[in-house]
Order: sequence, then C-alpha cells, then structure tokens
Amino acid sequence: MSSGMSAAKTLTCDVAIVGSGPTGMTLAHLLGQSGVNVILIERNATTVTQPRAVSIDDEALRTMQALGLDRDIIADVMLDYGSNYFTPQGICFAKVEPTTREYGFPRRNAFTQPKLEATLRANLARYANVMQLFEHECESVTENESGVLLRLRHASGDVLVEADYVVGADGARSALRKVIGANLVGSTYNQKWVIVDLASTKERMRQTRVMCDPKRPFITLPGPGGIRRYEFMLHEGEDEERAASPEFVRELLAAAGPDADSPVVRRQVYTFHARKADRWNSKRIYLAGDAAHLSPPFAGQGMNSGLRDAHNLAWKLAAVVKGQMGAGLLATYQREREPHAWALIELAMNMGRIMMPTSERQAWLVQSAFRLAARFVPPVHAYFAQMKYKPKPFYADGFIADDAGLKISGRMLPQATLETHDRTRLRFDDVAGSGFAIVAIGVDAQALVASVDVSSLGLGAVPRIAIVPQKINLEPTMHEGIVAGRDLDNHMGEMATRTKNMLILLRPDRYVALAMRVEQAQTAGTFVEMARGLVSRMK
Ligand SMILES: Cc1cc2nc3c(=O)[nH]c(=O)nc-3n(C[C@H](O)[C@H](O)[C@H](O)COP(=O)(O)OP(=O)(O)OC[C@H]3O[C@@H](n4cnc5c(N)ncnc54)[C@H](O)[C@@H]3O)c2cc1C
Repeated sequence: MSSGMSAAKTLTCDVAIVGSGPTGMTLAHLLGQSGVNVILIERNATTVTQPRAVSIDDEALRTMQALGLDRDIIADVMLDYGSNYFTPQGICFAKVEPTTREYGFPRRNAFTQPKLEATLRANLARYANVMQLFEHECESVTENESGVLLRLRHASGDVLVEADYVVGADGARSALRKVIGANLVGSTYNQKWVIVDLASTKERMRQTRVMCDPKRPFITLPGPGGIRRYEFMLHEGEDEERAASPEFVRELLAAAGPDADSPVVRRQVYTFHARKADRWNSKRIYLAGDAAHLSPPFAGQGMNSGLRDAHNLAWKLAAVVKGQMGAGLLATYQREREPHAWALIELAMNMGRIMMPTSERQAWLVQSAFRLAARFVPPVHAYFAQMKYKPKPFYADGFIADDAGLKISGRMLPQATLETHDRTRLRFDDVAGSGFAIVAIGVDAQALVASVDVSSLGLGAVPRIAIVPQKINLEPTMHEGIVAGRDLDNHMGEMATRTKNMLILLRPDRYVALAMRVEQAQTAGTFVEMARGLVSRMK
C-alpha cells in the first residue's frame, strides 16, 4: 500500500461519508448546512435509477423540510394514502387510514426513490463545503487515534482522504461494518418475494391493497404519477428465475386484478432481512441506514429509519467537529437510534405475519378477530386506522434530561402551524431553523420565553419561540427577539394546558432534550441550569 500512496492525491475533510444513497445524501445536506467540511464518496456514476423504496412517512418529510427540500420532493410524491387488508374471499377486514398531521405532513405517502435521490443530489451543489466524489470506490479504511484514512479507487488514479470522522452509509453489504468489526444479528427472514413495478396502472383504488391469502399473499401499492407496484410472495422451492420471468409475472398480475396487460418496468426477486449491526461505531467511524439495520419492507420503514439516523447523527457530528460539545455526545447516537430502528423492524415482522397467514385456519382466526374488533371495540379500530401501533419517535436514553415524569423529554415535538400577531401562518420548523431552539408553550409563553437566556451554553444562535394554546389569544405585548404564535391546529395538545407553561430545549433533529413545567418567568433560571448540566455531561 505504501508505494502506491505517494502517487495518490490527498484530500482532507471533517467528515467523509461513504455511500450516496438517501441516508448519505441527507447527512451530507445537514452537515453542509452546519458548515462542516464533507466529502461524499459514491462508487456509482449516478444515484439509483431503479425503483426501490416506495413509501415515505411524515417524519422523513419533516427531515426533508429541514433540508429546505420538502416542497421540491412533494412535487413527486402522492400524499396521504392508506392500506386496506383483505381476506382470501375479498372482504376488507382492516383499514389503516391515519388522518393526523401531527408532524406537519400526512403519515403515509408514495414516492419513488430515484426521483428523491436525484433531488437530493442536485441540491447538494448549494454547499461549497460538500465535495461529491462519484465514481470513487472506497477500497480501504484505516483508523487511528487522530483520524481516519480512506483509499479510493478512481479511473484516473487513487485518491486518499484524511477525515476526522467517517460515516458508513454504504448500504446493506456495508464494508465499513466489517472495518469496525460489527456483525449483523437478528433473524434472516427467509421469505422471497417477487417485486413488479408498473409504468401505469388500471387499478382505480388509491389505497394499498393487501391480500392476506395463505395461497399467495400479495400487496399492491400506489405510486406518484399513476404508477403501481405489486409484490407477490414466493413459496418455498419456487424457482427464482421462473418467478421473475415475464410469463409468470403476467399470470400473477392477471390473477391479482386489472393490471394483466399494464407495462412492466421491472421484475425482481428479493429476500428480505430483519437484522441490525451489533455495534454501530468505533471511535471515529459510524454506521447509518441499511449499513446499521435491515428491515423487511412490510412497514415501509427501511429508508425512513435511515433518514432518522442521518438527522440524529448530523447535529452531533457538527457539534463535536465545531467543539461545541465533547465527543461523548456521539456515544448517544446508537443508544438513541438502535432501539427505535429495531422497534420498527419488529413492527414490519408483525405486519408480515398478518399479511402472510400460514394456513386457511390461521387466516380465518386473525381476520375474524380484526373484523369483530373493528365492529365492536372502537378504540381497537382507531388503534389500527390511525396507525397508533407505529412506534412513536421517542428516545428513552441519550441526550435527554430527566423531566420528572412529564414524559415529554425524548419525544419528537409535534409541528405546530403558528398564527402570529399579524395573522401570518408559519410552520414551526421553518421558525426553529437548523440548530437548537427554546420553546415555551402555554398561556404565558411569550413572557416566559423572553426571560430565558441560553447564550452562555455555547449552542450557537438559539431562536426563542412562544406557542400559546389554540383557544387563547396572543398577549398583545411584543417581546423583542421572540417569535410568538397561536397553535392553530392544537398539535401541542396536552402540553399547552391553561394553568401551567412548559419550557423546552429542542434539539436540531426536533426531539425534546429537556422539558419543564414552569409556573413563572423567575423559575426559568432553573431550566437554564438544567440545560447547562445536560450539555456539560457530554464530555
Ligand atoms: C423492494 C424494496 C422495497 C422497499 N420499500 C421501502 C419503503 O417503501 N420504504 C422505505 O423506507 N424503505 C424501503 N426499502 C428500503 C430502502 O430502499 C433502503 O432502506 C434504502 O435505500 C437504504 O438507504 P441507504 O442510503 O442506507 O443505503 P443504499 O440506498 O443502499 O445506498 C448505499 C450507497 O453506498 C454505495 N456504496 C457501497 N459501498 C461503497 C463503497 N465501498 N464505495 C463507494 N460507494 C459505496 C452504493 O453504491 C449505494 O449508492 C425497500 C427496499 C427494497 C429492496
């Protein structure tokens, strides 16, 4: 290696990201925004051109909003669709049709991964501090106490990259995972499915249709611009090559509905996995996205979980690189992300069990139970229809302060629409910006947040935002340097009681680091001291 090294060009950066999938590019955007010097490394010449993920959730669209790209991305998204589950006889036994906009977007939305990735890549050009190295394959990675050295192979010669930190967003077969000595644990889900993507559909149903038939379960999902996907389970011993053949796929489509002759873009057999890496980092190398966890697609969460990783890791890397907080902060990444990512993988496995009954009897039992519950137990019906079974965006442990039983620290803050004094409507996240924010919620929120000064904590510019409950008018006094608004859609719910106010230190990824009930403006000093304690714990 040493003789080749002398001829190679050497580049330096704060953070090198290996892999330009949705996880790597989202991370590059967020670090670019924070002023961190980034090198993004991708072996391919372009982002993906073949369809992969098809479902993007509200939390992921909120992350796209943080990149300033939600409107561009939504231009290629079919917002707000549900899922209907059918018995083998064609009776709908369960509906998932959530209506909430708690985080600012509908909960279930159809998109195409190639378009999302193209938008992410085109907009990376905004950041002079993000260098993109496509057609560069990362061949070796060496870590020492002070940094990481990467050797990249390119047609015109090798390139060396010296980085303070490296993120392996290099997908399911991650080489970085091996470099840090991590193993995949969990179950390998030995079920094969053939995925069929159509360029157009005759299916008029907007929702996802899930046919829970033990003979051959299948799913048909909507897409933006009139496209549609079908996913058919294969039986043990069924030949993969035959399963992906045009004739076999046409037979499956003909049995499934009106798309027997619709134009097929792609046919591919996949084996799904339910696994996670047993460690997510060494001292200077971190795994994110599919490199860290692999989910079966039944809950449509693989990519969404990767985007959560990127949003979680980005502000921590930025704070450490800029010296705002100690490297101990990075230890909270796996502590926060692993349990949540795994909870979603378990959800996908449970959904898979409903979709794939193993016998007629089991199908009848499960489906009858759903139908009875839907008819006679409204809370159970609401639990499914409103998708309350999806694990909440919540971290029990990490960069989270104890909130004395309030159970608000660690939660993702809902995204309110704020109506200001002059009746302008603002989206909360657009006001909060890309760093930390101080938020007061309650009748006295304006005076309260105006009394809080966190400038001594070294967190950079921290906007102060007051949210008054939906049924309360804003206090007429204008406090300097704060944005005040009424919670137009009542998204803050129980947090905005009439009697007490709440003070929140909000993290850049929109999770609550610290929440405290505060009676009066004078007690805000205690809040600042608690925030200082939390920051100084991250050595
Ligand atoms: C059929 C199917 C359906 C799915 N449906 C959904 C869904 O509906 N919703 C959802 O959220 N998710 C879904 N997923 C999962 C989703 O596609 C993945 O979770 C997502 O693409 C992972 O993103 P990533 O950025 O972590 O990794 P990837 O997208 O795999 O990107 C990794 C990148 O790293 C590059 N790379 C790897 N090694 C190197 C190297 N040594 N040097 C340079 N570059 C390298 C690769 O070329 C690649 O571009 C689905 C997946 C499949 C297969």
